[in-house]
Amino acid sequence: MSDLPPASPFRLLRRTLLAWFRKNQRPLPFRESPDAWRVWVSEVMLQQTRVEAMLPRYRAFVTRFPNPGSLAGADEDEVLAAWAGLGYYGRARALHRAARQLAAAGRAIPPDAASLRKLPGVGDYTAAAIASIAFGVPVAAVDGNVRRVLSRLFLVEGYRGRASFEGRIRELADRLMEADDARDPGAWNQALMELGATVCTPSAPRCANCPVREFCWARVAGRQAELPQRRPRPSAVSVCLAMAVVRDQEGRILVFRRGESPMRGLYELPCGEYRSDESAEEALVREAISRYGIHVKPARELAGFRHTVMNRRISVAPFEADLVEPAPGAIGPGGRFVHPRDLDRIPAGSMLRKALQGVGSTP
Ligand code: SF4
Repeated sequence: MSDLPPASPFRLLRRTLLAWFRKNQRPLPFRESPDAWRVWVSEVMLQQTRVEAMLPRYRAFVTRFPNPGSLAGADEDEVLAAWAGLGYYGRARALHRAARQLAAAGRAIPPDAASLRKLPGVGDYTAAAIASIAFGVPVAAVDGNVRRVLSRLFLVEGYRGRASFEGRIRELADRLMEADDARDPGAWNQALMELGATVCTPSAPRCANCPVREFCWARVAGRQAELPQRRPRPSAVSVCLAMAVVRDQEGRILVFRRGESPMRGLYELPCGEYRSDESAEEALVREAISRYGIHVKPARELAGFRHTVMNRRISVAPFEADLVEPAPGAIGPGGRFVHPRDLDRIPAGSMLRKALQGVGSTP
């Protein structure tokens, strides 16, 4: 730590940023009542989506599941349906497993980061956020916002995942947490995150309005736009997918439950990839037989759309299709007919919803 600034600038930086946070923080519902469950749910949701998009789902989720016990008592379908639209369903499953683990042991949410870290789906960041915000434990929570702010404030080179970068960021985060007698650790962690979310943003940091601009080495060096450095990304993969909208005589739509990760447990329309040397219709007939055990006959092409899942860029060609066999009552395991108005009661992926918008069937 010998090349770090002495303690007093850390203390001044802390006090300046905390004063700004107390005056300017956004009035978010999990800040009004920062109990451990609300902090936990909000932190898991915020890892995958922006605050504005997450808020209505957060409110609905904690209304339906106001504590770990209520989530533990729900079945997985109900949990995934409540999570629909947020993506990254593995996180919802992990939260569910953690709630069940606590319920089975008859335990409350533990207050310390080390015990929290042992729960399914709880990583270093989430454990530190819950421990500091809900229980006042002085442990630094380092997320993407905090990495960005610290890398700029202290001119740290490198990118997420690189050992030298992560080590330096952790060192700075711990040192800042400990400065000024580690007062108000939850507010301090949130202040850093809030600065990253609202002022020190990824592409256009608002340095002129930044409360800690006088402390910022990247601003002095004119390098704030290039920090932190971007991690080399795997190149995108293009995929073509044919999809069938099959209805029974009552207008219900045939869906199948997926068995593989990362969309395990979600319902999808029968679909399959096709190559450039075959037609989407041919591939759909073949894939429907091999993947779902049904014989379909594509009847009408619907409006195509694009969908992105991680590094997969998917071009979707949906078709209204007739079911040739088996009879609707003899569909195999995992398949069922669902009325469009009931789709929000089952865990359905966003690709299924997009496809049904093309036929005016979204609930
Ligand atoms: S001065 Fe600019 S780059 Fe530095 S912390 Fe503030 S917003 Fe970020």
